[in-house]
Amino acid sequence: MNINFVDLTQQFRRIEDTLRRRFDDVFAHGRYIMGPEVAELERELADFVAVKHVVGCASGTDALLMPLMAYDVQPGDAIFTTPFTFIATAEVVALLRATPVFVDIDPRSLNIDPVGLSQAIDRVQAAGKLRPRGIIPVDLFGIPADYDAIKTIADQHQMFVLEDAAQSFGAWYRGRRTGSLGDAAATSFFPAKPLGAYGDGGAVFTNDDGLAETLDSIRVHGQQSNDRYNNVRLGLNARLDTLQAAAVLAKMTVFEDELDSRQRVATHYCERLQEVVQVPHVPADTISSWAQYSILSDRRDAVRSALTTSGIPSAIYYPVPLHLQAVFTYLGYQAGDLPVCEAVSSKIISLPMHPYLDAGQIDRICDSVIAGAQT
Ligand SMILES: *Cc1c(COP(=O)(O)O)cnc(C)c1O
Repeated sequence: MNINFVDLTQQFRRIEDTLRRRFDDVFAHGRYIMGPEVAELERELADFVAVKHVVGCASGTDALLMPLMAYDVQPGDAIFTTPFTFIATAEVVALLRATPVFVDIDPRSLNIDPVGLSQAIDRVQAAGKLRPRGIIPVDLFGIPADYDAIKTIADQHQMFVLEDAAQSFGAWYRGRRTGSLGDAAATSFFPAKPLGAYGDGGAVFTNDDGLAETLDSIRVHGQQSNDRYNNVRLGLNARLDTLQAAAVLAKMTVFEDELDSRQRVATHYCERLQEVVQVPHVPADTISSWAQYSILSDRRDAVRSALTTSGIPSAIYYPVPLHLQAVFTYLGYQAGDLPVCEAVSSKIISLPMHPYLDAGQIDRICDSVIAGAQT
């Protein structure tokens, strides 16, 4: 049997009946924009995460951008984040002409290092050019960042915390779900994320009533609530499609079971690989949503070619850290500035990860990894 990196076909067959019923409901009522499924999904997600408000939107990128707009982030503001993430995390900061400040990662969790964060804020404050406004921790590959430490630092400096939970929806941190760990949180329903739609989509989570109201307005061109032709601020067309909301509602019926399966796959990988490569480190009292299973090896390229030879797909997340991306040259970073993430980016490789991998497939993947790591 073919091994896929992510397998949406088996999932589709499993939810097909529910999904078709959900889509038929939408075709029957015909409200493709902001139909009742959007509010239904928002309520269900709010219950799942245990937050007061969920605002569905058009993508994970919009889910990051909208809270920054609501907080009125502007030129001269410094937003601290990790360089070891997808471009969108820092792109939204730069789109508002604020300044992303990259902080190196912890070598085990691969998430932003709270000690480095504190030092970076002190340096920016001492330089006196930028105003520290907010922190965007990323829950990389599904493993939550260290929010207790980050929140303490944020409170000391009166900064907001915007959780990038695009990869971690469904994960736990010290008894709380991701999505509830910052002042606001963003997730993505890109099809390959743990909870995906059949196209683009995203959501913002918050307990802050005022923020939720502003997000609701920004989502539709800055309209005044209940008055679509009075506009009180600049906004976006960032609505979540009704059909995508219907798809996510169907997927929610199997989501907890899929999270258990992802954990089964991760445990199997760990048992077979931990002596051979550096396997993911999940901190105490934390459960990953396993968006990716990423290992570190000094023999990464040999591991990759062994996998390719056996017809097994793999991926490199991320080959170039954000501080070294061409688009951010103007920020003035050099190679060597953030050594931990630079070293990690040369050793990391992600293995196939989805809930429908069976034990035989996982063993085949592990056999290849072990063969590659030992050549
Ligand atoms: C996928 C992703 C995003 C962006 O989500 P889209 O829905 O593709 O816009 C943002 N941050 C991280 C960490 C992601 O993995």
